[in-house]
Amino acid sequence: MEQPYSGSACVTAVDHGRRRLLQAAGLSLAALATGNARRLAAVVTPTNSTKHSRLILLGTAGGPTPKVDRSAPANAIVVGDDIYVIDCGNGVARQMVKAGLDLGRIRDVFITHHHSDHDADYGNLLLLAWETDLKTPVGTYGPPPLKRMTELFLEMDAYDIHIRETDEGRPPLAPLIVPHEITHGGPVMHDDNVKVTAALVQHPPVTPAFAYRFDCPDRSIVFSGDARPSQNLIELARGADILVHEVIDLQAIDKVVKDEAMATRLRQHLEAAHTPMSEVGQIATKAGVKTLVLNHFVPGTPPIPDQVWYDAVKPHFNGRLIIGHDLMVL
Ligand SMILES: [Zn+2]
Ligand SMILES: [Zn+2]
Repeated sequence: MEQPYSGSACVTAVDHGRRRLLQAAGLSLAALATGNARRLAAVVTPTNSTKHSRLILLGTAGGPTPKVDRSAPANAIVVGDDIYVIDCGNGVARQMVKAGLDLGRIRDVFITHHHSDHDADYGNLLLLAWETDLKTPVGTYGPPPLKRMTELFLEMDAYDIHIRETDEGRPPLAPLIVPHEITHGGPVMHDDNVKVTAALVQHPPVTPAFAYRFDCPDRSIVFSGDARPSQNLIELARGADILVHEVIDLQAIDKVVKDEAMATRLRQHLEAAHTPMSEVGQIATKAGVKTLVLNHFVPGTPPIPDQVWYDAVKPHFNGRLIIGHDLMVL
């Protein structure tokens, strides 16, 4: 029987089932338990002078309910010392610290859509980064009302922000956050590290909702965000090195929701707005991506074994298939 991927290109800091993999990388769970995540990052960081990218899965759960084994949706791409954050689910700042990332090096933040599992800590991440050591502007990108959300967050925490500006001498926070609202697919941002492109995806009733493609110096990485299958996403992901894609197990959903008062309505939403595990492999195949990384697992409670996801997806995709876990580095 084929097994979920657990090769040397990735490690997780939280999954104790990955003991052998960590040992192969010269790491121990004890070392990780002491918070020695920077050492972990150093192990997987290429050493030559070419700009290489790292993809870190910060949170791989789906849905707003806090989970025991997975944090809320968030990812980071690191190019050189610069960090690009994709989605800000609850706990994103702490997950970044656990991954050994310097909050002061956040360069841009991208929100796929305004469901709270993806944006609950949008303001918190920026505030906590500033209270750590952020001193440089951060561009933020996402659907409306991103500008209003930014204003309201700064207003909500104005008391604390004012105290830290006057008492601790921190630079004013408001000018450091530069929100950009995006309403349609196409080029989003381009700097010396990455070119970012968005595509409209279908995630009813949330609109607009976006998938993002990051063309880095060494490879391309695409995030589906939350989406049901669409040609837009396939075109965005065309030929990408990595596709990070959401997934849902509808049979497991039926068992979970059968006793809930809103069962029929919830089931209809989930089916209309997400991608069944029977179809995600076909999407990756149609797009011709090299590696498919599953994340945003629904349902998350009770947890579904990796092998179940793997066996449902692998028959439809010949490339490398990875079942995502929090703090996995690719
Ligand atoms: Zn979601
Ligand atoms: Zn959503």
